[in-house]
Amino acid sequence: MTTTLSSSANLDAAVEQRRNFAIISHPDAGKTTLTEKLLLYGGAIHEAGSVKARRAQRHAVSDWMELEQQRGISITSTVLQFTYNDYRINLLDTPGHQDFSEDTYRTLAAADNAVMLEDAAKGLEPQTRKLFEVCKMRGLPIFTFFNKLDRPGQEPLALLDEIEKELELFTYAVNWPIGMGDRFKGVFDRQKKQVHLFERSAHGSKAAEDTVLEWGDPRIEELINDDEVYGQFLEELEMLDELGPELELDLVHSGEMTPVFFGSAMTNFGVELFLESFLDFALKPCPRESTVGMVPPTREDFSGFVFKLQANMDPRHRDRVAFVRICSGKFEKDMVVNHARSGKNVRLSHPQKLFGQGRESLDAAYPGDVIGLNNPGVFAIGDTIYQGKKLEYEGIPFFSPELFAYLKNPNPSKFKQFRKGVTELREEGAVQIMYSADESKRDPILAAVGQLQFEVVQFRLRNEYNVDTRLEMLPYGVARWVTGGWDALKDAGRLFNTVTVKDSYGRPVLLFRNEWNCQQVEGEHPKLALSKTAPVV
Ligand code: GDP
Repeated sequence: MTTTLSSSANLDAAVEQRRNFAIISHPDAGKTTLTEKLLLYGGAIHEAGSVKARRAQRHAVSDWMELEQQRGISITSTVLQFTYNDYRINLLDTPGHQDFSEDTYRTLAAADNAVMLEDAAKGLEPQTRKLFEVCKMRGLPIFTFFNKLDRPGQEPLALLDEIEKELELFTYAVNWPIGMGDRFKGVFDRQKKQVHLFERSAHGSKAAEDTVLEWGDPRIEELINDDEVYGQFLEELEMLDELGPELELDLVHSGEMTPVFFGSAMTNFGVELFLESFLDFALKPCPRESTVGMVPPTREDFSGFVFKLQANMDPRHRDRVAFVRICSGKFEKDMVVNHARSGKNVRLSHPQKLFGQGRESLDAAYPGDVIGLNNPGVFAIGDTIYQGKKLEYEGIPFFSPELFAYLKNPNPSKFKQFRKGVTELREEGAVQIMYSADESKRDPILAAVGQLQFEVVQFRLRNEYNVDTRLEMLPYGVARWVTGGWDALKDAGRLFNTVTVKDSYGRPVLLFRNEWNCQQVEGEHPKLALSKTAPVV
């Protein structure tokens, strides 16, 4: 009895301590830099530069393949765990750049909070918008960090306005910049009523202490030493206080209001201020919808779901890793769990801790954490594993692909391997597979979110199934599932500027060259309901 009591107390404490988030941003906004600075404060690394060095090697696709061969490298960047002020923080890495793929979206299914990082000079950029859509669909709390204040950027009020109008979020500025670019003087913490002064030389690769002055201190104006900047700052502050909404945590937690921060990741300014407020406001691991209702993280029985699979590219080590987000209970090495889809028992014997040198093994983990499991072909994206009463978490939907290509097998004698490979890679979630509605065209259509997915599929077909394939790109950029299925499509009559294909479940999907064509069809057929994601089966 005592052990149960103490283990449930441990579980409660572990959940209270944990915060989990993903950063969404467009390439070059500073995600690597910010990640590094956060790790620096968390003491997970001692000198900035280590994450970056690793990342810099990932530019070319061939390099990426090479890196995959050195076991562990990309795995370590799947989740970074660090501690700060007694919090256990899990930063889920969302692949970007060339490795932008469905995994980027799926990772958001495992996150409890999102940090939207924007370059203050550029404002909202395309990849950020796409990722935002996924966060919105999931109702994730979103924290906004405007980066690169040490360089000339857009007016802060205009940046807030863009978020309010285009993303339809309320904004609450937690801190406010004093000047920017060459005349960037620091930020004002509106809650603690303190000015943090920016010192160009003091920050950088090491964790640093800001110079902090209480509001009202006469030295503030003197140290800022720029009447125009100070005057404008006071004006903006007054406007914010009068017109801006109050911070409402309920709205933050429901993803309707975003707390906003300004800073400069490169010079390490505003990062710690951000981290502290983020930890105050962010959601801890929360209950999750399942077939038996909401499952609280403090449910004693372990449960979790697979959100990402990764194959090792090295033909000598064909192991695959399944990344599991723990939703409830305590994970222990060697525990036996039920695999909901197959009904089988699975022993979780080689769990991996995901951050650190190589793959450290792991003995225990808690809700909000991510573990890597060796996957001998048992797990698929969205699978639930659990102990105790049977339950299944909601699956992870297919996301709207943007790149399409026929996959051709020029060698008919390899037909069997080709079909097996395509089926297995689809089941694993490496790529979506569609087929032309025209029965005479039987080549599978690969549908992906990022170019790298195509290359991985071809690479793996060659290495694991011994089939050389050819790609024939298709001129489409937008996909929509027809919500009402084939009947609804028939009722809509003739459609122009689109082709119909079937997804792997035989459901109709419309492909368009661009958004404009899609909107045209939607405008002409208001009764035809189209969806950017496939219904979960
Ligand atoms: P990522 O593509 O989002 O991971 O972006 P990186 O972290 O690699 O940063 C892209 C570029 O912006 C790099 O050259 C960084 O040094 C630079 N950068 C990042 N943060 C800042 C910042 O706060 N100020 C300035 N001036 N440059 C920054």
